[in-house]
Amino acid sequence: AAAAMVKETIRVYARVKPLGRRQQAGNYSVDNEELLPSLEITVPRDLADGFINNKRESYKFKFQKIFDQEAKQDVIFDSIAKPVAECVLAGYNGTIFAYGQTGSGKTFTITGGAERYSDRGIIPRTLSYIFDQLQKDSSKVYTTHVSYLEIYNECGYDLLDPRHEASKMEDLPKVTIMEDSDQNIHLKNLSLQQATNEEEALNLLFLGDTNRMIAETPMNQASSRSHCIFTIHISSKEPGSATIRRSKLHLVDLAGSERVAKTGIGGQLLTEAKYINLSLHYLEQVIIALAEKNRSHIPYRNSMMTSVLRDSLGGNCMTTMIAMLAMDKRNIDESISTCRFAQRVALIKNEAVLNEEIDPRLMIIQLKKEIQDLKDELALVTGKQRKSELSQEELLQLDELIETFLKDNDPDSSLDVGADMRKIKYCFVHMKVFFLNGDENVAGKKLLSQDIFEEKSSNEELEKLKGLLQQRDNEINILVTMLKKEKKKARDTLSQLNATSAGSAVLEQSPFMSLEERQSPSRCSSQKEAKVFSSSVPKLPFLSRATGGKMSLGRQEAFEIFKRDHADSITIEDNKQLLKQRFDEAKCLGEKLNEVRNKINHLKGKIIQRQIQRAALAVSNPSEELTFDPVEENLRMQIEEEKKSYKTVYSRFKGLKVEIEHLQLLMEKGKMKLQKDFEVWWSEEAEKFQQEKPEMVASPNTVNPVYPQFIRSSQHLSPISFLDTGRDSPNEDPAVKNNSVTSASPTLKTRTPPSSSTSIPLTGDSQADADILAFIKARQNILQKKG
Ligand code: ADP
Ligand code: MG
Repeated sequence: AAAAMVKETIRVYARVKPLGRRQQAGNYSVDNEELLPSLEITVPRDLADGFINNKRESYKFKFQKIFDQEAKQDVIFDSIAKPVAECVLAGYNGTIFAYGQTGSGKTFTITGGAERYSDRGIIPRTLSYIFDQLQKDSSKVYTTHVSYLEIYNECGYDLLDPRHEASKMEDLPKVTIMEDSDQNIHLKNLSLQQATNEEEALNLLFLGDTNRMIAETPMNQASSRSHCIFTIHISSKEPGSATIRRSKLHLVDLAGSERVAKTGIGGQLLTEAKYINLSLHYLEQVIIALAEKNRSHIPYRNSMMTSVLRDSLGGNCMTTMIAMLAMDKRNIDESISTCRFAQRVALIKNEAVLNEEIDPRLMIIQLKKEIQDLKDELALVTGKQRKSELSQEELLQLDELIETFLKDNDPDSSLDVGADMRKIKYCFVHMKVFFLNGDENVAGKKLLSQDIFEEKSSNEELEKLKGLLQQRDNEINILVTMLKKEKKKARDTLSQLNATSAGSAVLEQSPFMSLEERQSPSRCSSQKEAKVFSSSVPKLPFLSRATGGKMSLGRQEAFEIFKRDHADSITIEDNKQLLKQRFDEAKCLGEKLNEVRNKINHLKGKIIQRQIQRAALAVSNPSEELTFDPVEENLRMQIEEEKKSYKTVYSRFKGLKVEIEHLQLLMEKGKMKLQKDFEVWWSEEAEKFQQEKPEMVASPNTVNPVYPQFIRSSQHLSPISFLDTGRDSPNEDPAVKNNSVTSASPTLKTRTPPSSSTSIPLTGDSQADADILAFIKARQNILQKKG
């Protein structure tokens, strides 16, 4: 494989997160003016004493560049991610990882914030940039795939699992590491999804993020304890070339780097803390080993993360790290340790190697072509087109020639068959036959004439070409055998895999999931812009899952209230407004586009009309010559103008489309999050309630109070209706009341909960009862808070 090398150290940047409103700023200063920018942190002497055990108060760290609190996402992309994306487009591997304690802005930087379009992070911006560049380059054929892996407690999970059935992490496909005989890492079960454009890639990103969110329960705030690796795989090939370039870009959101002491809580959390620290610790070890000269063993295998990033940390990679810093007083010590880690990373020298490999099939095609070229060259030299075999006629002619030659007693006679190796060889064979037969007539004469000398050089040429042909034939044979082997190997692995886990996709073999069903029909064809927006973002099946399905009326009610009071719903509303505005804008642009197009068509029509007129004129009046027509020229210029404006409007329109799609996905995500928060809150409330008043959750064996049906609308939720749950409540819906009477089973008695003076009738259906009770409790809580 061809290898071009680029040697450089890992680039390390720092980004300081904006301070929260109630946070006290720590003492730090940024100097971006020096040759190597630096960040200086000053710590009060006693604190420095306490935690680092030396007398230093001031710490200075060097970075490639430091982005202070006000740095925006576009600047981060341009300075940090774009150069890496460019390398990846050129065929090198690239990695960007965000390192820092929980809450320091890793996810914000890598993926982006959920509130504003301008908050989108490195991943969506990189996808946008890459697809833009690929589209511009028509000299190569590109294929793009993405994968999204989450590593939690040393287990890998495929976040792009398209089945969307996961409600906890364990439901996601488990990804395992396999190493082949060449020590290449393969990730079994990690699906590689093809993305042919930005939109498809973004959908995949959101699918992964949603799976990540769903899989995370409040008990395991996995996002802070897991690593997420979003990978963009690009392969490229020049048409007709046998060389395929493959490169990948890992965008890594690392687990929180906070130290164990801080998270040291008992039970589950402690094991988790140990694990994060372990895996980050192993990352650190790998980095230290890479930084040391003459180290032959790099301990990649110690953890899953370092194994996955093996070809993307040291050696073959353009690696960039962003040290995420929270500079408020309480986090300054963590920030210092983040900076220290960053300084070690900055010592690593990397050699980025271009990833090229030869595709044997393409090689064969290439060699065949070369053979054809050689044959053509041969034909040119000899002036004859030739097939591989001599014809019957030619053979007869040869026999005659040979015979005449053999019989000719003139010492100057020669056998001239022309510059054709096949004929020459045939003569030799013939001679051999004569010779072996001991034919006395054979007169071996040395051919000395000048003609022969000339012929010889041409024969040499021919020999050379023939030799080349032979060599190529051999190569083809070898390659064909290779191909066969490859195929067999692939078949074997596949059947092996099928045996272990049916239907799982293996990274290198790319039996990719078809995304066809999910693809949006909205490709911007020039006739359909106006419709594009109505088709909106394709509904991913997973998005409807959470909100769809059964929700008891009571929960529905509670959800409405919860939604009203939930901060995220404000974001959703904001986005809705924004979306509406964008929609209107897009509609306007769409209309404008239609208008311009009509204008262009109209102008074209005019030109044709004009041409017809002039042609007619020329027929009736031949003296009038059909030359330059200023009117037509003018029309053409007008068309050019319109086309220009069409282009500008269209590109704005396209940008808007991307933004709208992004916003829609953000909103869906917001809704999901709301739903999830609600579920958590709901079950917490239910649990609290059960603990406080266990007797209210009547078991089927004990006396069951009766409650007809749950309150239908929030009007019924006023405190009065609550306290007077009695049958005579004036607020009660008569239908509900009737229902309550008829559905009351005669064997059941109502009972009054001891804690309140009201009777809370239940249905006897334990799930519904739990819902009712939880809701009542939740309602009380809300009222208390409001009161
Ligand atoms: P981490 O992933 O490191 O745990 P997050 O990215 O989740 O941290 O950031 C924590 C919070 O701070 C989030 O609410 C995020 O939106 C916000 N945040 C982080 N960095 C920035 C920034 N540069 N600008 C605005 N908000 C930020
Ligand atoms: Mg995070």
